[in-house]
Amino acid sequence: MPPTFAQLGVPESICRALKRSGIHKPFEIQSAVIADAMDGRDICGRAPTGSGKTLAFGIPLIANVGQARPRRPRALILSPTRELADQIASELRSISGPVSVAAVYGGVGYANQRKQLQRGVDILVACPGRLEDLIDQRAVSLKEADQVVIDEADRMADMGFLPAVRRILDQTAAQRQTVMFSATLDSDVAKLTRDYQDRPITHEVGDATPDIRSADHRFWTVEKAERVDICANVISAAGPTIVFCRTRHGSDRLARQLTQRGVKAAAIHGGHAQNRRTRTLKEFIDGRVEALIATDVAARGIHVDCVACVIHFDPPEDHKAYLHRSGRTARAGQTGLVVSLVQTGQHADTKKIQQRLDLHEPITSPRPLEQSEAPARRRKPSHPRTQDQGKQKPRSQPQGDRNRPVQQNKSRGGRKPNGKPRSRPQQQTGRKPRSGASSR
Ligand code: ADP
Ligand code: MG
Repeated sequence: MPPTFAQLGVPESICRALKRSGIHKPFEIQSAVIADAMDGRDICGRAPTGSGKTLAFGIPLIANVGQARPRRPRALILSPTRELADQIASELRSISGPVSVAAVYGGVGYANQRKQLQRGVDILVACPGRLEDLIDQRAVSLKEADQVVIDEADRMADMGFLPAVRRILDQTAAQRQTVMFSATLDSDVAKLTRDYQDRPITHEVGDATPDIRSADHRFWTVEKAERVDICANVISAAGPTIVFCRTRHGSDRLARQLTQRGVKAAAIHGGHAQNRRTRTLKEFIDGRVEALIATDVAARGIHVDCVACVIHFDPPEDHKAYLHRSGRTARAGQTGLVVSLVQTGQHADTKKIQQRLDLHEPITSPRPLEQSEAPARRRKPSHPRTQDQGKQKPRSQPQGDRNRPVQQNKSRGGRKPNGKPRSRPQQQTGRKPRSGASSR
């Protein structure tokens, strides 16, 4: 029997808030991490995408964080992307009660973020670049931040943020708790551990690489000219889809071409202003957009449980990119479909990627998706939380969904985001939040 949140030492008020959000039993990484983190230990955690890492580090922060003075947050969560920062902040806010949580990242104005910091933010979620800007402007100081989380440390490394992360860590309280999560714990991440953590406890859950086996992988030989039509067909059959393109320009063009074919598609990439990206992501989550056409960087932070399908429209750069992209589907124990459109000249590279990942699916001509093959879960909420919560271990759910008939019905209003707080009931703590920062 896995322990309950209460047995892990989670305070009653947080347990109640979790219940109100439909979260009843800890996932595996949460059972592993929460008690140690509540004790103030440094932690080095590795677990697959969708396994619940946000609450694994978030619950102990909310339980232990001190009250912040203006411009002096007490806890800091570093995130590689703005989308992820937003998702972490809203997931935590749904259970944070009187603890204030705010996110700061680039691509939007400074004024609001400065104002929030001035009011006092207990838990600050931040992307490294904007945080350093705000520090330079003296809008924030990290001197009193004695709980620090580095989320997705491997991606921080991939995106070249580690020098900034180090500069930032150097400014936090010397006596601090440092918790780090990453999909891999080698090389650069190991160096961060060596330099910034104190006798960390390592908790590893699941396979060392994201568990891509829970998705169904297809490799299709296609001519360049037929890719758009094939893509449109897959989206219509499979449901909510993220399509990966190599360039911003390419994603804009594909979004237009799909729209012309009657698919509700929207591009999402770093060339768009933050509010536009947030709006697009929300439209996708709400079901108003069927397909997000994304570049690799833009998609890094998109953690949405309802993605039924990932299409590699342009080939991924390497096996790591294939993993990151494909990990957008089949999250939190659900199934998913991953389709690679492989042009004739791309076979050799594709085979290399397959070998690295131990995927041995043949490269075939495109096959129309059988009704019984397309992931049929898109109309379900991402977690059937109101049902038997005991079945909700990630990755261990029966894969029976694949055999359910596909519903071609286009109205998918019931989809829920990963950062479910938008649709979660508001927490009623009876206490008044100290500052407006938690209700942006
Ligand atoms: P990760 O960071 O490991 O990729 P997330 O923290 O984003 O995963 O969690 C994935 C999804 O699982 C989110 O929608 C989250 O709300 C949900 N979730 C997390 N913990 C639980 C739980 N104990 N019970 C049910 N759902 C959970
Ligand atoms: Mg995460």
